[in-house]
Amino acid sequence: MTNQIKPETVLAQGGGAHDAATGGVAPAIQLSSTYMRGPDNALLTENFYARYGTPNGRQAETAIAQLEGAADARLFSSGMAAGLAVFRALPAGAHVVATRRGYFSIVAWLTEQHARRALDVSFFDPRTPEALTDLVRKGETQLVWIETPVNPVYEVVDIAATAEAARGAGALLGVDSTAATPLLTRPIEHGADLVFHSATKYLNGHSDVLAGVLCTRDETLPLWKAIEQERTVGGATLGAFEAWLLLRGMRTMHLRVRQQCENALRIAHELERHPRVERVTYPGLPTHPQHATAVKQMRGGFGGMMSFEVKGGAAAALGVISRLKLVKVATSLGGVETLIEHRRSIEGPQSDVPEGLLRLSVGCEHADDLWADLNAALSAS
Ligand SMILES: *Cc1c(COP(=O)(O)O)cnc(C)c1O
Repeated sequence: MTNQIKPETVLAQGGGAHDAATGGVAPAIQLSSTYMRGPDNALLTENFYARYGTPNGRQAETAIAQLEGAADARLFSSGMAAGLAVFRALPAGAHVVATRRGYFSIVAWLTEQHARRALDVSFFDPRTPEALTDLVRKGETQLVWIETPVNPVYEVVDIAATAEAARGAGALLGVDSTAATPLLTRPIEHGADLVFHSATKYLNGHSDVLAGVLCTRDETLPLWKAIEQERTVGGATLGAFEAWLLLRGMRTMHLRVRQQCENALRIAHELERHPRVERVTYPGLPTHPQHATAVKQMRGGFGGMMSFEVKGGAAAALGVISRLKLVKVATSLGGVETLIEHRRSIEGPQSDVPEGLLRLSVGCEHADDLWADLNAALSAS
């Protein structure tokens, strides 16, 4: 297959994977932990030992690399395992610049590494990427790490501008593109070197697999080699069954994401008009502070993630979610079912997330049903 094939075709055909041994249209699951050698002591196939990778993992990696326009991809046992593999592959004490907001556990982990002096981390506000130019240190900063659209408010970070600042300092740029999916944004086209997804979210899409993936623009990058080594030696390789489930889930990602984008835009407009809603942050709304950047770097839609602030703070927001009947109150995102969460209660007292903020992951249900549920929960007092 070539890169000319459209993402929809790559996905529907599971990246071309099938079972050559039986003619099965669906790929088989190969659970073997180890692989045989022939009389000459050479491996019979490219497979060696499952910690180094599995045939099912490689099938999903091939499809994801193709979607991202990447030279290569590697699956990990979770998003966090993938994300931390990048930072652990850096030399001790390396200077890293990251967005102050972002996936909670990644920002918390980086903050801790900085405190322990394992890494030298500078944070910048994703709303003011100009600040990056002053934070990067030429010849010293090794990595700039951003997330866009960024948790939990869903501001948008300009990848091309960030890539330019990173390159100017001789640093690599890594992008957590989980919320954008490989369908709506291809960060490598905007200058990123590494692309990260929590595959637990949109790639799998059914809230039943934990997985992470990293993609690289260039498989000869020394950092990429170190990341691969980190996975192989550290053992955070994705299991074959999870990889099989992931590729199965991916086969409908284009249909899911299209519906999620359509539903989310409708819900965002409705929420914005609701008298009990203070603010809606959805990249597809013209009122979004970085809407122009979103239009520039996202194509075909603005994703299924948004946040909105309920008037009346934490008590009012918790009241709203207590009255929902259809929308499930749970952490995580990107599944076919709509989920909502009060981030402030999850993050704890040190959190700077507004008290009344609710994070909404819009699913594939009928938008009328979703809005009826949200409207009833908001309107009751
Ligand atoms: C979920 C998530 C992660 C972490 O991934 P896990 O699969 O939960 O380990 C990282 N970044 C973003 C944006 C996420 O949504």
